Amino acid sequence: MSELSITRADCLARDAQDPLAPLRERFDLPPDLIYLDGNSLGARPRAALERAQQVVAREWGRDLITSWNTAGWFDMPKRLGERLGPLIGAAPGEVAVTDTTSLNLFKALAAAVHMQAQAQPARRVIVTERSNFPTDIYMAEGLTEWLERGYRVRLVDSVDELPAAIDADCAVVMLTHVNYRTGYQHDMAMLTRHAHQNGALIVWDLAHSAGAVPVDLNAAEADFAVGCTYKYLNGGPGSPAFIWVPQRHQATFSHPLTGWWSHAQPFAMAHGFAPADGIGRALCGTQPVVSLALVECGLEVFEETSMEAIRAKSLALTDLFIELVETTCADHPLGLVTPRDHARRGSQVSFTHPHGYAVMAALIARGVIGDYREPEIMRFGFTPLYTRYVDVWDAVAILKDILDREDYDVAAERGAVT
Ligand SMILES: *Cc1c(COP(=O)(O)O)cnc(C)c1O
Repeated sequence: MSELSITRADCLARDAQDPLAPLRERFDLPPDLIYLDGNSLGARPRAALERAQQVVAREWGRDLITSWNTAGWFDMPKRLGERLGPLIGAAPGEVAVTDTTSLNLFKALAAAVHMQAQAQPARRVIVTERSNFPTDIYMAEGLTEWLERGYRVRLVDSVDELPAAIDADCAVVMLTHVNYRTGYQHDMAMLTRHAHQNGALIVWDLAHSAGAVPVDLNAAEADFAVGCTYKYLNGGPGSPAFIWVPQRHQATFSHPLTGWWSHAQPFAMAHGFAPADGIGRALCGTQPVVSLALVECGLEVFEETSMEAIRAKSLALTDLFIELVETTCADHPLGLVTPRDHARRGSQVSFTHPHGYAVMAALIARGVIGDYREPEIMRFGFTPLYTRYVDVWDAVAILKDILDREDYDVAAERGAVT
């Protein structure tokens, strides 16, 4: 076994010097729990409890329907979009927080396909990766099958095959920036340029990027983007997602989910649909107000730091985790799936183990929460806003103990959600 370059005391010292350390206080985390699953469900900002009480007791309970105006409910999708925008390189007026990632992806894909049908109707292929998150592929397949006009989805098996798959038949490229399973991060600027040079539009899914890694959609000249707020943005379970439509595409952006909230004058109750100007046309119907309101509590925390500071700590945490696992657990059949190359890494680390599910269940039983993804992958998410260096140390010590003593139950039953 090679020598460790660091001790637990060093980790505590790094926490003491960490400029982000005070932000941990903005979250309410159970003591004695090491939470490495912020990539699936972010921790609860302390402010969310009071905000929930305010929305439910005062805005709903006392002010009732007047709150659409007096409490700013109606404007919330756009107001939250303004706060989220800087995290992904969006300009003002380009982001709405609304609906789910699946639905927003459908809208963005439909808009992109429609734009291409006007400009280059022979292009009928949506290119994506077979390793993409299933809902993204399902939504693309659902759209193409329902169009029944020869549209289809082309699944690419490796990153190396992507450039060639973006050919003269390709209308739209749909990629998830950071892969949910491996933590691989695409080169957004390069692939966007490549798609455009080959006549395709590109839609980016930022589910594992927003709040996790720096993203600059406008610098990359991307076409559309969507993403979750309940992962690294800490918006709460099932909180509404976001959609980005850049200024240059807003006039031509159209989708089939033309509900009254995307109407130019929703309360005119007019016959016939007329789309709102700007990002408003990306909405559909009435928003889940209580859930939406809590998104703000997650976004507020980001305004006290920068994505550069978050990224620096994310890389330090993931580097430390990889080093500690590879050094202290070297005798065990663990395989690193996440890229070592910083430029290609998101804010998670995935290791395979033949009994990955059972080992993860044992970790969770001992207060280290990560999750499991087929096949064999143990996934650990690192959220620099609240994860400490000493958490990384302690999590690996527990992992090592479980593996050394084979203290996991291979026959254990699985829950519905892994
Ligand atoms: C988490 C995630 C989703 C989730 O979509 P929902 O509509 O919120 O269920 C979609 N795509 C990707 C890539 C994800 O990681």
